[in-house]
Amino acid sequence: MINVTKPIIPNKRIFYKNLNKIFQTAIFSNNGYLVRKLEKKLQKYFNMKHVICVSNGTVALQVAYLSLEKKGNIITSPFTFISSVSSISTQGFAPVFADIDVNNLNIHPDNIKKLIDKKTLAVSPTAVFGNPYNLDNIYKICKKNRLKMILDASHAFGVRYRNKSIFEFADISTISFHATKQFHTAEGGAIITNDSKLAKKMRAIINFGINEKSQIEYLGLNGKMSELNAALGLSVFDFSKKAITKRKKIFQFYVENISKELSFQEWPANSKNNFLYAPIIFENEKLLLSIKKKLNDIDIYPRRYFYPSLDKLKIFQSNQKCKISNNIANRILCLPIYSDLRMIDCKRIISVINNNIN
Ligand SMILES: *Cc1c(COP(=O)(O)O)cnc(C)c1O
Repeated sequence: MINVTKPIIPNKRIFYKNLNKIFQTAIFSNNGYLVRKLEKKLQKYFNMKHVICVSNGTVALQVAYLSLEKKGNIITSPFTFISSVSSISTQGFAPVFADIDVNNLNIHPDNIKKLIDKKTLAVSPTAVFGNPYNLDNIYKICKKNRLKMILDASHAFGVRYRNKSIFEFADISTISFHATKQFHTAEGGAIITNDSKLAKKMRAIINFGINEKSQIEYLGLNGKMSELNAALGLSVFDFSKKAITKRKKIFQFYVENISKELSFQEWPANSKNNFLYAPIIFENEKLLLSIKKKLNDIDIYPRRYFYPSLDKLKIFQSNQKCKISNNIANRILCLPIYSDLRMIDCKRIISVINNNIN
């Protein structure tokens, strides 16, 4: 069976060595040695001042929203994973959907401009499939309008843009360390910022709102990462970086060999992809469904990321219509891609697709 992805499995010896620290210290949580060590490693790799490890990527988003001073509307993308937007609603903000760019699949900056009004507090784009397209322009719009930019960079481990870490193009970025993501801690995530004041506040928020002086200062939650999760993270970190090179080969093989009638997401010049996903766009949904079925018949399971377009969901009670997002959501399929996916299997996938296109 071939799934869309396969988590990185740590070397047992390294994992046990890291776990041993827990046996020595009897510390399982509350900003322990392993969490601090992982945060330092990530700070260095991301080239950012503050990396706060948390229990998952959804909590990371919730904490980012809780750090905002008041309530209001947040402009976001309809073409992303559900928790990018549900985390806005569960924290008491209203999501406002801005339609995406048909080529790169991130929110189109022009659509953001049209939606900004007195109630707007922040803009929260997702770097979809890690793509940093237009994040610089969106950040400029935010600064001009005194809005916070909260970036869901869950897919963007290792992505660079204009020779900078992708996390520099937002006030606060979040990332997921779920098992299916590029770097993982089984369940986990992080909040990333260069703003020391915000970092301090968010560190308190993940600890029930209790600040450094042990005072209850904020409305908080429990978002702490455990030492067990950090031990796993420390054990897969080096492999996660190496996996990029391997996935790049697979991605390029798809690009070079898949029928030219299909299209790929456009990446900006001056960016470095991490090849975490291999999304392909069909001419129509019917074709996508028939090819998906043919692949499923031979035990290959690509995934429909992201379907449906979130503006359609009743839970958000949105009356906006994001035409492009709906159109793309119907036609896009993520192909299997992971570091030890065999070329022979890539060839099988490509031949099923190409043989059924015409
Ligand atoms: C995975 C993901 C999340 C949620 O992360 P979890 O760690 O699973 O909670 C949020 N946003 C996007 C875009 C994701 O892909």
